[in-house]
Amino acid sequence: MREKRRARRADILGVEIDALTPQEALIEIARLVRAGTGHQVVTVNPEFMMAARRDREFADVLRHADLALADGMGLLWASRILGCPLKERVAGVEVVLGLAALCAQQGFSLFLLGAAPGVAEEAARVLQDANPGLKIVGTYSGSPRAEEEDMICDLIRKARPSILLVAFGAPQQDKWIRRNLSRTGVPVAMGVGGAFDFISGRARRAPGWMRRIGLEWLYRLCRQPWRWRRMLALPQFAWLVWRARLTGKKSPQDC
Ligand code: UDP
Repeated sequence: MREKRRARRADILGVEIDALTPQEALIEIARLVRAGTGHQVVTVNPEFMMAARRDREFADVLRHADLALADGMGLLWASRILGCPLKERVAGVEVVLGLAALCAQQGFSLFLLGAAPGVAEEAARVLQDANPGLKIVGTYSGSPRAEEEDMICDLIRKARPSILLVAFGAPQQDKWIRRNLSRTGVPVAMGVGGAFDFISGRARRAPGWMRRIGLEWLYRLCRQPWRWRRMLALPQFAWLVWRARLTGKKSPQDC
């Protein structure tokens, strides 16, 4: 699993994140597709890190992922404070857009699982319009409930996608992938959170300038105020990073 990974990784509060640019992340995913079945990609942000401290199953998922991408400016900031700098943010939605182009070029196929009914289909149409020849071999809304797992795995196995994208929200989507990865037979599966909502146009992303200065979380909070509880993870994360730095628990040699 993780030992197959080649890229340099930054250890942030015990979670290893791959130091890759978005382009390098796509190259790495293509390598995993060619390597065969059973690879999991996670797109980590500070909320994931804090959730993993309370949830051993989720922590295990992050530890065993074949590729852990830095989907949050908070991780880049933390990596600098802790002396293991990451290269760039690798936003999940941008990975999905890049993957669609890569799949069209290389003849890989996608399966879109999750989001509200109809959203994955709309996202699939947008991706295919932008990438002529892109093969999307299935879409299904479904849910992460245990009763549906057999049926969903069957659907995916029969469709034989190269890459499975799962939008059940974290941590459910990432746990779902870990439980079912081998049963689906897919080479690569990745949790994508709200990516289908953004790509289909059902939800709007923060303007570019807000994303560039790391304020996407503020935009989402204004549009979806019910997220305030989840956002409490951000100051907690910042405090833990500073504490690790001040108590010298991390040093550049540990990178
Ligand atoms: N979702 C789903 N089934 C569930 C819970 C969530 O399909 O039981 C979908 C939801 O419709 C949305 C995505 O999962 O499309 C999660 O979006 P969110 O913005 O919460 O994810 P984040 O990017 O914050 O992880």
